[in-house]
Amino acid sequence: MKCGLCFGKAQVELIQHKIAMCGPCYLKWVPHYTQRTIKNFRMFSHQDPVLVAVSGGKDSLSLWSILTELGYQADALYINLGILENNYSAYSLECAQQLASTLGRKLHVIDLEKEQGFRIPQMHRKIERNICSACGVIKRYYMNLTAYQEGYHCVATGHNLDDESSSLLSNVLSWDVHYLSRQSPVLPEKGQKLVKKVKPLCYFTEKETAQYAFLKQIEYIGYDCPYVKGSTFLYYKDLLNQLEQNSAGSKRRFYDGFLRVSAGRFEEKMPELQECRHCGMPTPIDVCSFCRITQRAKKIVREQTPSQ
Ligand code: SF4
Ligand code: ZN
Repeated sequence: MKCGLCFGKAQVELIQHKIAMCGPCYLKWVPHYTQRTIKNFRMFSHQDPVLVAVSGGKDSLSLWSILTELGYQADALYINLGILENNYSAYSLECAQQLASTLGRKLHVIDLEKEQGFRIPQMHRKIERNICSACGVIKRYYMNLTAYQEGYHCVATGHNLDDESSSLLSNVLSWDVHYLSRQSPVLPEKGQKLVKKVKPLCYFTEKETAQYAFLKQIEYIGYDCPYVKGSTFLYYKDLLNQLEQNSAGSKRRFYDGFLRVSAGRFEEKMPELQECRHCGMPTPIDVCSFCRITQRAKKIVREQTPSQ
């Protein structure tokens, strides 16, 4: 197989784009394509400082590397969730620190245990089934808070086409209007305290970002968080992969079609926001989800700690 750009020996086959590429061409093409997405969705400019949320995985670390290569002012945030199993948190932090030193950019680190006095595994023992939704609220809160406090224009996440199409499938199956209204590569800022959120890798598949990270020699954590097992998103990803095998480009058509056809049709009337009674961040209710979850987690930890 030959590279469709330079006719050298191809290393990567991009089925959805109907082209194969050699390593060097692929390493140029991915940033070029990312730049196109950033421009088409008006995500940010070269003057805007961007905060990349990194987990230590292939997608977020590739995104940080690509944005830096494209000349953007991109720093990153890593949230240490205190997951000791398989050395998960320690190794993913190490990968993020390694890339920070390669890129010469700042890495902000938030340690959940130091900030709040608990680790995600302590919550998992009590609320096994809902751990990912609680963990997601905690991560999103710190991403937004750090961007707001440190003066970043937006938070960029490494969500890929597999993530976006599987969450779209889930939201369509339940006709969840609230989530469908937020199913976009760009969520605009709201007031001063809720910063813009962007997903510049939303058109690359998981396989494509993994190939990029591999060819770029980015060290990343190659295994999942131990608590992801049994997640319905994995099941939806699997269904879409089966569809993709029979009809290449299905994920892209599904996601892109939704963005084109349904844009603006699922706009939900947002409730008035007020300041959270505890932390002062915007919330539709008296106490925000983050404060409610962390209060509950602290109670769980107190109950787990044997009294002296
Ligand atoms: Fe958190 Fe769930 Fe992701 Fe693990 S899989 S990091 S618990 S959201
Ligand atoms: Zn709060």
